[in-house]
Amino acid sequence: MDNCIFCKIAKKELSSEIVFESKNVIAFRDVAPVAPTHILVIPHKHIASLNELNTEQRKILLPEIFECIDELVEKEGLKEDGYRVVNNCGENGGQTVDHIHFHLLAGRAMQWPPG
Ligand code: AMP
Repeated sequence: MDNCIFCKIAKKELSSEIVFESKNVIAFRDVAPVAPTHILVIPHKHIASLNELNTEQRKILLPEIFECIDELVEKEGLKEDGYRVVNNCGENGGQTVDHIHFHLLAGRAMQWPPG
């Protein structure tokens, strides 16, 4: 997608602090972090939201995204204190960038329910 900022980050056309990359998945630090650790994990491929994932992509990409999250949890030392993984989907979910992404948040106590 030409105008997608996350596609541009994935293609390295826009700078970001990349912390993980594999064939299908890339992770980078959020530009406006809401926690001491705030990383976004996305597929390279442009998929607008969880609603648009097809069955094949669900089987392949979701496990890879969670493998990436697992690796980041280890690498960033988040296991002991805990962390939160969030996907905002659609307008009511609070999604602002239409390229599927999972937030990995850590480094402070999270509130529940979310706003
Ligand atoms: P969401 O509201 O779930 O769609 O999350 C979008 C996230 O993308 C927000 O946390 C933004 O701060 C983040 N974001 C927007 N532009 C960039 C960028 N250029 N680099 C890194 N993160 C970004």
